[in-house]
Amino acid sequence: MKTASAFRCAVAAMVIGAMLAGAISFGAGAQSEYMRGGRMPYDAFDRLPKTDLEVGGSTIHVAFAPGDITLPKEKLLDWISTSARAVATYYGRFPVGSLRLLLVPVDGARIRGGTTWGYRGAAIRIPFGRDSTEDVLRGDWVLVHEMVHTALPDMPDRYAWLSEGLAVYVEPVARVQAGDLTAREIWQAMMRDMPKGLPQSGDQGLDNTPTWGRKYWGGALFCLLADIEIRKATGNRLGLQDAMRGVLAAGGNHELDWPITRILSTADKAVGVDVLSRLHDEMGPKPVTPDLATLWRDLGLKRIGEDIEFDDTAPLAAIRKAITAPRGQ
Ligand SMILES: [Zn+2]
Repeated sequence: MKTASAFRCAVAAMVIGAMLAGAISFGAGAQSEYMRGGRMPYDAFDRLPKTDLEVGGSTIHVAFAPGDITLPKEKLLDWISTSARAVATYYGRFPVGSLRLLLVPVDGARIRGGTTWGYRGAAIRIPFGRDSTEDVLRGDWVLVHEMVHTALPDMPDRYAWLSEGLAVYVEPVARVQAGDLTAREIWQAMMRDMPKGLPQSGDQGLDNTPTWGRKYWGGALFCLLADIEIRKATGNRLGLQDAMRGVLAAGGNHELDWPITRILSTADKAVGVDVLSRLHDEMGPKPVTPDLATLWRDLGLKRIGEDIEFDDTAPLAAIRKAITAPRGQ
């Protein structure tokens, strides 16, 4: 069903246990109708008052499902604007002309995940812990992750590694470019988390191995490798960012269905090299295990206990810096 293939859930995979626990409280409360039902989240926008935010050339229509939230509404709107600005910074503009964003108050003090739809216009629903603090908003990655999904045309589920991988990889890079995180924080996290995306025994390539690790971190590793290869091939002038901006420029976004080959060839064309299509030919049908230790060393990343150190004399240090450098429109 189109609805099933059109949604991307960030947290189902990230904190599945918490979601299952949460589902019980969703079911009991008045919010349940906003968390379920085939016509959600679109029906919510017909019934609820909306606040419009203008960010990056887009209008974000924000609606709050009934229920109390401790933080003032202004703080929530600031968080939404900050998240949208990071995504617009990466893509040169917000990926879709308008977005419907539904916040559903739920028990707890954190952001419980998110879901993005495109089939009736770009829409995101976030189950929002009613006791969340400003620190929770500052540390949140979920909303940027979901907003990144709006930039990629919808594809069959076997290619979810590309949409999740892009969301996982672009979210922190966009936030560094926008000044919301430091490069040190995100490289440290990549060194810690990228090994989760390596193929395990029995792996049949990204296209045929729908495990959590391969979908999220295997996809993110594909994106990192693609970014580096595009930069190597273009003398570090262009990167994955320019390739994915090319998909938007060609009219692609989450409101449309495109085959993966069209997405990758459109992105490749924007940077004038065939890195993405070629990497997919290599990593899609069979397991590929990149040598991460060598990769980190070449990027000039050294682990010192819990911390990391940058080595700016490393062969790919300039590429590492270019990945997180703010870009023009
Ligand atoms: Zn996701």
